[in-house]
Amino acid sequence: MTTTDLETPQRALAVGAHPDDIEFGCGATLAKWAAAGCEIHHLVCTDGSRGSWSPDEDPTSLVATREAEQRRAARALGGSAEVTFLRWPDGELESGLRQRWQVCAAIRRTRPDVVLGHDPWKRYRLHPDHRNAGFLVTDGIVAARDPLFFPEQAWPPHRPTTLLLFEADEPDHLEEVSATVDAKIAALLEHRSQLHTTMQVSPAGSARDAEIASFIDRVRTRLGSSGAPAGLAAAEAFKRVDNL
Ligand SMILES: [Zn+2]
Repeated sequence: MTTTDLETPQRALAVGAHPDDIEFGCGATLAKWAAAGCEIHHLVCTDGSRGSWSPDEDPTSLVATREAEQRRAARALGGSAEVTFLRWPDGELESGLRQRWQVCAAIRRTRPDVVLGHDPWKRYRLHPDHRNAGFLVTDGIVAARDPLFFPEQAWPPHRPTTLLLFEADEPDHLEEVSATVDAKIAALLEHRSQLHTTMQVSPAGSARDAEIASFIDRVRTRLGSSGAPAGLAAAEAFKRVDNL
């Protein structure tokens, strides 16, 4: 059975492997909740230093660029939009204890009702950062809720109410987002360094405007097809996990 539209949470924490993953996975949902007064926190696990097809790219300046883009994207979704970067090397994110400690700390510090992250069980996914970022969320929640995990942390335990996994292998929850499709697109387009690698937009040239329009079309089409089975104009789809 597919459920629709959680009650707007007071606080939400979205965890992505790279700058732009959160906007792709749940940007319109975050924008909808932000507009309704939800406090939104973004946690980005890697530094995005490999997000380029140019072998001459300077990784240090790419990291700074991508963090600035991520902050602008978070603002484009509206609301408070606090962004935290864990800065693990892009492509080398592990779901180990040190990383779990950090995600647990983020959950205890921000006290979200809803946590959103990559589905670590998505089949045939190649990129290890997405898989590991997903496991950091599930493992981080288990640690955050129980007082005997990482008792040295400064914040008290916290148990979120709901986990929503984006890019879900078996989606069973939809958030209706027709009012915030444009905010999601605006946030995605803030990731200018990714227009070529991720959004199939040429760095320059006469086709650029048409390619941006075609990217926007693909985002709209995807949201439309996610919503269609439930009769919604546009939706983001998730695997929903309650009883955390
Ligand atoms: Zn990614």
